[in-house]
Amino acid sequence: MTTEHTGPECPECGSRRKRVPPGRQGQYHVYCDECDHDFGRFDHFQAQLRDLLDDVESRLKHKDDA
Ligand SMILES: [Zn+2]
Repeated sequence: MTTEHTGPECPECGSRRKRVPPGRQGQYHVYCDECDHDFGRFDHFQAQLRDLLDDVESRLKHKDDA
């Protein structure tokens, strides 16, 4: 297991420290390093992060247009 400091925050304790599966394989789960909150499967977690990034990106673009 490696530890990553990356968003989103844990809904239980607010920590951004996560335990990421070895090899970052999709069938493993991502856990909060502080309270062991289960963020779900790594591939689902990745998809969530992508959505978040897309959202931020589109908001930034929108700002540029204004
Ligand atoms: Zn937590």
